[in-house]
Order: sequence, then structure tokens, then C-alpha cells
Amino acid sequence: MVVSVLNAGNAGLDTGTLCTGTAITGSYQSTYDTQSYYCLVNSSHLTKGLLTVRMMRAAVWIQMTQRSHLIPNTSLWRSTKTVTLEGRILPFPNPCRNCSRQLLLIEAGQGLYKDYSLEALLNNSHLYHLAHGKDFASRGIEIKRWIKTLKYKGKVKMYTKIIVTGIHLNLEKMMEQKSGAVKSLTGGIAHLFKQNKVIHVPGFGKITGKNQVTVSKEDGSTQVINTKNILIATGSEVAPFPGITIDEDTIVSSTGALSLKQVPEKMVVIGAGVIGVELGSVWQRLGADVTAVEFLGHVGGMGIDMEISKNFQRILQKQGLKFKLNTKVTGATKRPDGKIDVSIEAAAGGKTEVITCDVLLVCIGRRPFTQNLGLEDIGIELDNKGRIPINTRFQTKIPNIYAIGDVVAGPMLAHKAEDEGIICAEGIAGGAVHIDYNCVPSVIYTHPEVAWVGKSEEQLKEEGTEYKIGKFPFAANSRAKTNADTDGLVKILSQKTTDRMLGAHILGAGAGEMVNEAALAMEYGASCEDVARVCHAHPTVSEAFREANLAASFGKAINF
Ligand SMILES: Cc1cc2nc3c(=O)[nH]c(=O)nc-3n(C[C@H](O)[C@H](O)[C@H](O)COP(=O)(O)OP(=O)(O)OC[C@H]3O[C@@H](n4cnc5c(N)ncnc54)[C@H](O)[C@@H]3O)c2cc1C
Repeated sequence: MVVSVLNAGNAGLDTGTLCTGTAITGSYQSTYDTQSYYCLVNSSHLTKGLLTVRMMRAAVWIQMTQRSHLIPNTSLWRSTKTVTLEGRILPFPNPCRNCSRQLLLIEAGQGLYKDYSLEALLNNSHLYHLAHGKDFASRGIEIKRWIKTLKYKGKVKMYTKIIVTGIHLNLEKMMEQKSGAVKSLTGGIAHLFKQNKVIHVPGFGKITGKNQVTVSKEDGSTQVINTKNILIATGSEVAPFPGITIDEDTIVSSTGALSLKQVPEKMVVIGAGVIGVELGSVWQRLGADVTAVEFLGHVGGMGIDMEISKNFQRILQKQGLKFKLNTKVTGATKRPDGKIDVSIEAAAGGKTEVITCDVLLVCIGRRPFTQNLGLEDIGIELDNKGRIPINTRFQTKIPNIYAIGDVVAGPMLAHKAEDEGIICAEGIAGGAVHIDYNCVPSVIYTHPEVAWVGKSEEQLKEEGTEYKIGKFPFAANSRAKTNADTDGLVKILSQKTTDRMLGAHILGAGAGEMVNEAALAMEYGASCEDVARVCHAHPTVSEAFREANLAASFGKAINF
């Protein structure tokens, strides 16, 4: 099995660590060692809940076996229960007789950078906000800065200590910490590449034949790579707003908003989806007056449960964020003094208004990035949303060219892209290919966080599915109370007749961690009673998840 992957971003990296081959990246490139081997692991697609975990462990094992050949024990592929990492180590003939490339990845490594940058800023701005507001003081934490001043008594040097109370933001330092965190994380990826004998080939990859990718390098030279299979994972780019030019200085996309030089006095965010509320809350916590303008009637983007969204909006408003929902931006003009006039209007038309700001953040979504990939030359057409059409094995209309991640349909999420990379590689090796997109969780990393997996109440209503609801507020959870962090709730939706969990919606501190328990339960087809009967450590916030399942299954929680 020979495969080339166009990109090794979130999706490509996992594929890469499991295979040998070549990875091309825009900023730093990676060429997998082109052995005539292919790595496979035992895994049962039926126990798909553990698939990723097993694949990752297997990747480590592959490294331990010095990239020897792992051939799947095919009986285990069909087994329903086996969770084994053992495989036979056999020589595997290279099916690509004319070329040595096993795996080709093309990427520039920016996708991960964006995720990690935002995580660091979300965390640090939250801590600053806590320290700045009344929260620290109410917990008995008083922030004081001690400044030493030098004084002379005659010719004798004397030091006098002056206590200055108050909190100061050192934005440069905060950005420095963010960059350090990103560097160490991306450095880790470089280490993994190195460990797996991946060579970076910096440049921009273009498909120049069904079995050929040409890399344009920064120094103007090109490199042609012949390969058996090609995997496109070139990610996405910011969707432009017609008529508004992004300069990444005062009119910014998420990229510019991650590196502002100073806290804007007034910021307008176009779009109160996931990235809009995350970045909006970063700058609001750091002192900006932030207004998010949203065309839809709710915050948090698509897929969020409306009850959770309303509660979330209320909490964010309490923190200071302002929203203009059911409102559209019609244009933006830069004034001579550098400020920006943003024209808005009711979504249904009618009332117009102008809001002036120092920084305008355009956050209306992302679109697949497929420019100059050479797709048209080889006959691959895009769908009406600019995505690459694929079949269930991630094959494009040219069977040896695959696509995964943000360039294909499905949620634009890092973990979705990663999982697709793993199972696509399994599929190319002849294994089963299965992913349940209903079990892919979504997280908004504000404080409190919002996380969900499965169906929302609105989706179930639309489908006509009969459902039950179980809810539990964090205000009744002992750990949340002791943490003085009680905003939010857990909402569970289950099938009325079978008690099967259909959706989990969490608003609260640590929701992004807790949602993985829900994803695991749903992957295994658990009933709410199954979860409710699992012993949860006390006191933990996860007990709220158990209690909500109890409420869904038995009609009543214990502690509320
Ligand atoms: C600000 C921000 C925050 C986000 N936060 C989260 C989050 O918290 N959680 C989450 O799950 N998702 C998050 N996402 C989404 C996530 O980053 C993407 O869904 C994910 O990175 C997609 O993975 P991918 O492998 O398809 O593409 P990417 O990870 O974007 O990788 C694609 C890479 O390919 C490179 N490339 C493109 N064309 C070529 C070419 N021809 N030759 C060489 N290289 C090329 C690009 O430069 C890029 O580095 C966030 C996105 C943004 C913008």
C-alpha cells in the first residue's frame, strides 16, 4: 500500500505517524522515510470507540519495533471485542513497483498553531480577568505589587518599599507565553516526525499527475515526487467578508486577532460563532469593550442546543460581552483617525446603525483551501461549498487520491480531521473504514466552556424522534460549589423507548473534558441508565453528568 498525503496538519499528522512516506509542508516540510513497508495495526472497527486510542498506542508500538512491518491479524479486524495491540511482524511487499514513496503529506503546519494560540490566550485572559475582577478578592486573594525604590540618607543608600495595589496587564509577556506554548507543541510534532524518520520538504505542493506531486520551494526550485497514492489534507482558510478587506492590523481575521499589539478600546466581532465568542471573550477579559454582531438569533454557531445557547449568552453578557443578534453587517469604512465605522442592519432589514471600533474582527467561518492544488487539471471537481467530494473510504473520483479534514464535508474540527487521517490510512491498507460523525464532540473554550456531542433538542424535534430530557445544574454539584464556579448545567437527551443516549450538552467549567465521557458512552451505544450506574468519584464535577443521566433515565436526580 502506498499513499501520498497532501498536507500533514491535524489530519495528516496522525496518518503520518502511522505510516511511512513523504510529508510536504508549506512552511516546514516533511518527507516520510520511503521504506517498502506499511504499518498496520490490529483493530476491530466494531469496537470503534477505542479505535483512535488503539491506533495511537499502536503508533508508539510501531516506533518500538523500529518501523517493522505490522500486518493486521485479519480475524481481529472482524472481531467485535478484541482490544489487542499484538500483530504479526511480516515482510510486506511494496505494491508500488515504480516508485518508492509510501506516504506523501503536504502542509504548512498553521492549523495547529491557531488552535494552540487561542487556547493559551483563552486560559491567560481568564486568569487575568479573575484577578482583575472581584473573584480573587472574594477568595481572599489580594494582588499587590511590591516596588522597591532607592533612596539616599545623606550618602547612605536606603531602600524603601512601597506597596502598590492593583493589577497590570503585560500583553507582550502574555503573547510571549502563548508563543512559547505553541513553539513547544509544534516542536513536539517536529520531534515525532523525526522519530518516525519523516523528512520535512518546505514548499507548496501541487498535484501534477495522478501519481505525482510537484513541490515549489521558497528558493524558487521545484521537486517532483512520484507516489502511488495521494492524500489531500490542505485544511481551510478564513471566509472573506464581501467588501471588507482584512489587513490583519485593525481589520483582522482570527489570525490577526491572536497577535494584537494592544488591547483595543472598542472591538466589533462579525459572527458570534465558536471562534467569534472565544476571541471576543479573550479581548473583553483583557479590557476591551466587545460587541459581537450575529446574523442568527443565537450565539455559539451551528449545532449548539438552543437552551444551552441562551444560558451561555446570559453568562457571557454578565461577563461584559455585548451581542447584537438577528443583525447583519452591511459594510465597514476606515476613518482617517484609524477607527472603523461598522454599518449594521436588522437581519430582516429595516433598522440601520453605525458602531465605531478600533479593531474589527471578521469571524464568519472558514472555507476549504484547495487553491492551486491542480485539482482541475486532473478532473477533480469541488461541490457547491468548495469541498472535495469523497466516498466513504475518503477516495476522490480518482481512487488513488484521497482527501480528509477541513477540505471535505463534516465539521471543521481538529479531532475530526485526526480521526479521518487514522482511519483513512487503515482503509488504504485494506482495513475497515468507519467513523460516526454523530459521536464527534464540539467544544467552545470560553469560561465557562460549552461542549456537546450527538443531537440537540431541536434536531430531535425536527427528526420526529421521541426523547426524554435529564438536567442537572452545577449549582447543585459539590465540587463546583467548592470551586465557586457554579455557572451552567448538564443536559442529556435520550431515546424515549430505549433510554439510549442521543445527545449530551454541557455548559460549565471543564465541559470540554466531560464531553469525552459522553462521546465514549455514545460510541458504545450506552443507555442513560448505564452511565447513571457507573460509580463516579466524589466530589467531582463529572458527578453532574451522572446525575443528568439519572434524571433522563429515572426521571429524577439524587442531589437536585
Ligand atoms: C482560530 C482557530 C481556532 C480553532 N480552534 C479549534 C479547536 O479548539 N478545536 C478544534 O477541534 N478545531 C479548532 N479549529 C479548527 C481546526 O484548526 C481545523 O479543523 C483543523 O486544523 C483541520 O485540520 P486539517 O488537517 O484539515 O488542516 P490544517 O490543520 O489547517 O492543516 C492544513 C495545512 O496544510 C497547509 N497547506 C495547504 N495547502 C498546501 C499545499 N498545497 N502545500 C503544502 N501545504 C499546504 C496549510 O498551510 C496548513 O498548515 C480552529 C481553527 C481556527 C482558525
